[in-house]
Amino acid sequence: MLKKVLIANRGEIALRIIRACHEMGIKTCAVYSKADENSLFVKLADESYSIGEALPAKSYLNVDKILTVAKARNCDGIHPGYGFLSESYYFANLVRKNKIKFIGPDPETIKNMGNKSLAIKTMRENGVPTVPGSDGNVKNIEEAIKIGEKISYPLLLKASSGGGGKGIRRVDSREELVEKFPLVKMEAKASFKDDSIYMEKLIENPRHIEVQILCDDFSNILCLGERNCSIQRENQKMIEESPSPGISQGLREKLYDAARKSAKACAYKNAGTVEFLVDKDENFYFLEMNTRIQVEHPITEMVTGVDLVKSQLKIASGLDIKNLKVELKGHAIEARIIAKDPLNNFSVSCGRVNFFHEPGGVDTRFDSDLFTGSEISPYYDSMVGKLIVKDRTRTLAIKKLRRALEETFVSGISTNIWYLYTICHDFSFIKGNYDTSFIKNNEENILKIMRSYYDKFLE
Ligand code: ADP
Ligand code: ADP
Ligand code: MG
Repeated sequence: MLKKVLIANRGEIALRIIRACHEMGIKTCAVYSKADENSLFVKLADESYSIGEALPAKSYLNVDKILTVAKARNCDGIHPGYGFLSESYYFANLVRKNKIKFIGPDPETIKNMGNKSLAIKTMRENGVPTVPGSDGNVKNIEEAIKIGEKISYPLLLKASSGGGGKGIRRVDSREELVEKFPLVKMEAKASFKDDSIYMEKLIENPRHIEVQILCDDFSNILCLGERNCSIQRENQKMIEESPSPGISQGLREKLYDAARKSAKACAYKNAGTVEFLVDKDENFYFLEMNTRIQVEHPITEMVTGVDLVKSQLKIASGLDIKNLKVELKGHAIEARIIAKDPLNNFSVSCGRVNFFHEPGGVDTRFDSDLFTGSEISPYYDSMVGKLIVKDRTRTLAIKKLRRALEETFVSGISTNIWYLYTICHDFSFIKGNYDTSFIKNNEENILKIMRSYYDKFLE
């Protein structure tokens, strides 16, 4: 078993990893930036080392500094969390070269799946259904026009190295393609240091359904149910649930089959997620593979009873998962609490949290590093907490989520708590009858109802 793990991340996920390690008797070593000096994860790790300025490039992305600490402190494993270096081939490979265990798949898998267009090509060749689109990256505008004619409009231009819902642009005509192609290339270069882009047909009003997998070094592949992550705003997930409402058992099994095929196709190891889009007729398409722990992993933990981070640590330690039994029970929902102001076009809200009250109760989990007095910094992702609830049925879980949101209180910064609360009362949401266009089509209404909650609250 690993003895000491360095956590190359921050915030709630750093805390999550520390907790798993400590329950397993593994020592933890945190690295942190100047902006995170007073963070919970820094206090709760066995050891913590400052690695630089707030700017990610100077700290959480500083590969040399992180490795220096890992070696100096005799860490035998590095957990990258999500975001930052979690999907960096360069980092994972360097960690391996230094004889430290990277807690995730092999660097080659990260590389092959990190380039989204290459990943799609691989899946297509291995019999996994993919969205009609380009065969790999699109070299130039002439090629783009030809593909546009073939797959027809509307379509999407997507950055091959994109992530976090960024680097995706809709194109409705040939004229728009000519106009946007160079722009998207430039944006991709600026955001992801890679200007390669690919094309995909726009699937109208799809559902985003993904399958959690665990794979060990001995070719065992386990599917741990699916998550519906269709409540998205600008391609970013906001609410996720497991199991997915409104899908047939037949589709569920087909998705698991495709996820297993995907895992085999890239020799996957450790925890990963295969993302799919599902259309109205239950056709499904591989979207991408996330070669890391995901933000929404707790809902899977709630319905399977499997601790995914502990499983990651066990697999990285060379243990097998052949005796791990997956039994799905109940229904879990996650709501992402972000420091953004819904009434101000979701502008980022930073500063000191004057008061914070954490929700509690049976099967109510709050993964967060918030505390009264914590500072929300503009340098990092605006997610400040994840509220996860579980109950016997979906209806009970929705009621529990509403109740838990009612008692969550954050002052000093703006959050989307009431926005989430409004969604939990929406008729289509309650019916489980929604797709990725839900927020776009309902935002005006959501904001209107949300305002009335505010007014009531302030009365
Ligand atoms: P999940 O797939 O786990 O739901 P998200 O897409 O919400 O994850 O992304 C999780 C975190 O990782 C966010 O902080 C997001 O900004 C970041 N992230 C994901 N992919 C990339 C990428 N390619 N480049 C930069 N940041 C990324
Ligand atoms: P990221 O790497 O940023 O997570 P994804 O390729 O996973 O990007 O797409 C993010 C979201 O964008 C999806 O969940 C979906 O809502 C939307 N999307 C992506 N591709 C398509 C498509 N071809 N048709 C319709 N929606 C799409
Ligand atoms: Mg994705």
